[in-house]
Amino acid sequence: MKKIQKVLIANRGEIALRIIRACKELEIKSVAIFSEVDIEGVWVRKADECYPILGDVVQAYLDYEKIISIAKKSDCDAIHPGYGFLSENADFARACEENGIIFIGPKPEHIELFGDKMASKVAMKKVGVPVLEGTDEPIIDIEEGAKIAREIGFPVIIKAAFGGGGRGMRIVRQEKDFKELFESASNEALKYFGRGEAFIEKYVENPRHIEIQVIADKYGNVLHLGERDCSIQRRHQKVIEIAPSPRLNNEARKELYRIATKAMFKLGYESVGTVEFLLDPDDNIYFIEMNTRVQVEHPVTETITGVDIIQRMIQIAEGDKMIFLQEEINFRGYSIEFRINAENPLKGFMPSVGTVTKYLTPGGPGVRLDSALYTGYKVPPNYDSMVGKLIVWALDWEGCVKKAKRALDEFYVEGFPTNIPLHREIVRDQDFKDGKFTTNYLDTKMDIFT
Ligand code: ADP
Repeated sequence: MKKIQKVLIANRGEIALRIIRACKELEIKSVAIFSEVDIEGVWVRKADECYPILGDVVQAYLDYEKIISIAKKSDCDAIHPGYGFLSENADFARACEENGIIFIGPKPEHIELFGDKMASKVAMKKVGVPVLEGTDEPIIDIEEGAKIAREIGFPVIIKAAFGGGGRGMRIVRQEKDFKELFESASNEALKYFGRGEAFIEKYVENPRHIEIQVIADKYGNVLHLGERDCSIQRRHQKVIEIAPSPRLNNEARKELYRIATKAMFKLGYESVGTVEFLLDPDDNIYFIEMNTRVQVEHPVTETITGVDIIQRMIQIAEGDKMIFLQEEINFRGYSIEFRINAENPLKGFMPSVGTVTKYLTPGGPGVRLDSALYTGYKVPPNYDSMVGKLIVWALDWEGCVKKAKRALDEFYVEGFPTNIPLHREIVRDQDFKDGKFTTNYLDTKMDIFT
């Protein structure tokens, strides 16, 4: 077993800061990298060492040869990839290994398998996980796609075979619309992911998105840390995440835990990961995808379990055995995370940029803020619009919603528009308060909220 001494963080923004904090508490040194526009990033200042990567500012966080060479020069023995960027790049994980650096994450073969949504559905089906009817092979030919869609039966959903983040997705309700929607999905996939292949699966009406956080060591010990309800989405992208799900019956919950942990055990998964499911209104369960990284929404799980997911991830990579049994994980209360995005809800959610002129943060009991903002910080326009996350906790659901309302009302970010006003509307909505929401919730309420 090799104790990690120094970690390079191959990421930026709030997640880089989150990883630095985990390292500090483990008494591990941290090394930050930054692009030319990120020199004022708060994570750059808070890490023990920092190194610039010049040139294209997005490529800076993707250039793994440069990143590995910085890691080697600065004597890092491990790299944490965070989420996005290189986090689900199997070649990068392999390159780390080849250079004698620990990749803090799953094995490359698992990153590869689950990076291919169709292959992962096939693999999960084999180990007894229920999946939605759909294609096993990527499709590029419209006629072939139309034939398959007819066989599955409308409505169907077209998804980018090699994509994510809700991009390249189209719902087709009637056969006559198929070709046009397939073409636009494929074009979007080509634009964002460089590959136009798509796959088709049965569309579930009014589902809830429920995901299970799993954690597995190198010795076959697989546990779950409960579920997160991520049904509050805009255009298939998560906006608010909740743990536990406020309206999930216990039978379905137990079944989800059983399915997810059993599958990860059978597939020999290690590190942390998230198994994502859709539940239809009758609580039928369908696997949709597996994420082999730490997720944006991991704090809500940390909040209700007290388990530091990033620290555990580092320790598992070091070769530590699981330090607790499933029965020792206690779930307490409710937690909600609000993604704070630099975007204008009143102007079609256009990304906004600018300098933070005023930053008054919420605090007090049950409030956590994971953010890279500070007064005077200039948000660069080159990256994702998410600039922070507000996480609240209370013992019961009603109290948690009230806590959220109070914390959101205390939160002032001035200098550019954010989606905080939208969050304030949501927590005042009766359906939200009643825990009544499916993945269509935001789209149907948007007119009222904006
Ligand atoms: P991505 O990797 O782009 O995030 P996912 O497969 O995880 O894509 O799906 C994102 C969201 O899209 C889901 O949470 C859900 O709202 C919607 N979705 C995906 N597949 C289906 C489906 N078969 N039926 C209904 N909604 C779906």
